[in-house]
Amino acid sequence: MNESGKRYTGGCLCGALRYEAEGEPLFTGHCYCADCRKASGSGFIPYMGFASSAVRFSGETLTFTSKAENGGDAVRNSCPVCGSLVFGGKVGKDDSFTIYAGTLDDPSRFRPRTAIFTRNRPPWAVLPPDLTSTYDAMPPD
Ligand SMILES: [Zn+2]
Ligand SMILES: [Zn+2]
Repeated sequence: MNESGKRYTGGCLCGALRYEAEGEPLFTGHCYCADCRKASGSGFIPYMGFASSAVRFSGETLTFTSKAENGGDAVRNSCPVCGSLVFGGKVGKDDSFTIYAGTLDDPSRFRPRTAIFTRNRPPWAVLPPDLTSTYDAMPPD
């Protein structure tokens, strides 16, 4: 495998907001929480966690902050041009980001392992196969 084969790349619909992530994700899964559903207009958000040191972003972001289940801030970043939702986390502040896997250039590389907030899952949003763990809310640390 060459070096570029180990990189996860992707971006928004119009291409103005892009990212490159090194190595393998720290964690992956589907979040079925009501906020992810509303933010995406879909049944869940597929996410990949990376250390912030492993990810480089290029382009402007529009950020939206809401209260997370744990009382902290949930920051979502979208492209100000086309509106695609691309990643979660505060640039320059958080030590990890969640990249939304639907924005990958090659989405077939995504392997969801965990399902979280399944208590909010609508019946039509199916669970992916080969999960290693399922949580009805936030997983414990
Ligand atoms: Zn865009
Ligand atoms: Zn969520």
